[in-house]
Amino acid sequence: MCSSDLEGQGLQRLKFQQEQHFTQPPARYTDASLIRAMEENGIGRPSTYAPTVSTILDREYVIKDGKYLRATPLGVTVNGLMEDKFSDIVDTNFTARMEKALDDVEQGGTQWKALLQRFYGPFKDELDQAEKDLEGVRLKVPVEESEEVCDLCGKQMVIKSGRFGRFLACPGYPECTFTKPLVVVMPGRCPKCGGRLMKRTGNSKKTNKQYTYYCCEFVGNRDEEKKCDFMTWDVPVADDCPFCGQTMFKKAGKGAKKPYCINEKCENFTPEEKRGGWKKKTGAAQDGEVPAEEKPDAAAKKPAAKRKTVAAKKSPAKKKA
Ligand SMILES: [Zn+2]
Ligand SMILES: [Zn+2]
Ligand SMILES: [Zn+2]
Repeated sequence: MCSSDLEGQGLQRLKFQQEQHFTQPPARYTDASLIRAMEENGIGRPSTYAPTVSTILDREYVIKDGKYLRATPLGVTVNGLMEDKFSDIVDTNFTARMEKALDDVEQGGTQWKALLQRFYGPFKDELDQAEKDLEGVRLKVPVEESEEVCDLCGKQMVIKSGRFGRFLACPGYPECTFTKPLVVVMPGRCPKCGGRLMKRTGNSKKTNKQYTYYCCEFVGNRDEEKKCDFMTWDVPVADDCPFCGQTMFKKAGKGAKKPYCINEKCENFTPEEKRGGWKKKTGAAQDGEVPAEEKPDAAAKKPAAKRKTVAAKKSPAKKKA
């Protein structure tokens, strides 16, 4: 009664205090807030901030959801594995301590060999242990459902990670083997038809390498009336052109790139050769388009002449043979 009441109160207060001390990370980081968090925690150095963000994106541990970074099931799985097997090195304190120790080496305070030895001994033990523990273990990455429906059987498609990155697969496998490129919605609108812009990845049949391109949501659309052919290597940006209000693009790749307007009728229009990183290619990538031989399957299957007719009808301003 009286004493148990008190006991209950004590418990409650303890719980409350713990909650107060617990610092919640933001629900989602942006590139900028993640870099700020690394800075605040002493992880890495200015020269490593940007590469760290691009590495976790390249490996698809996170994907961009608008301007926010969202962990993928693959990322969550890999992180869980790291925390389980290498709890000390995925600790933020470890990284910060290591940076300090490296600075100390630079200033002549510590011998680099001694530092490496201190690190490598325990690390090697962990590595050996992990190798033993994980022998024959196949980690299952949880499936991520998508909004897309299988073209063949109508099942809700799932997102899988493969050698060439994330793609949509039919959950009816092996009965249904349908897959298609994963569509990531980008900021901006299609300059030809106003449709949404998608990020897609494909594999070059020639070089067997993965490439990323951007296209209108209506590329390869089954409805001829809605079909659009806008495709580009360049990245659509969130800020519209201040002159014509159309979506601007920037060159893909690392480092800050200046967005430019691709609207030929706009006074802010930037011709191809002034957009940076411009190389004259023979018979390819004109008009900011994906070269024909690298076009994704969906579009490549359609006869080229037909596609062009549709495009010409859609945008009479742009003359195409
Ligand atoms: Zn299917
Ligand atoms: Zn379009
Ligand atoms: Zn413009």
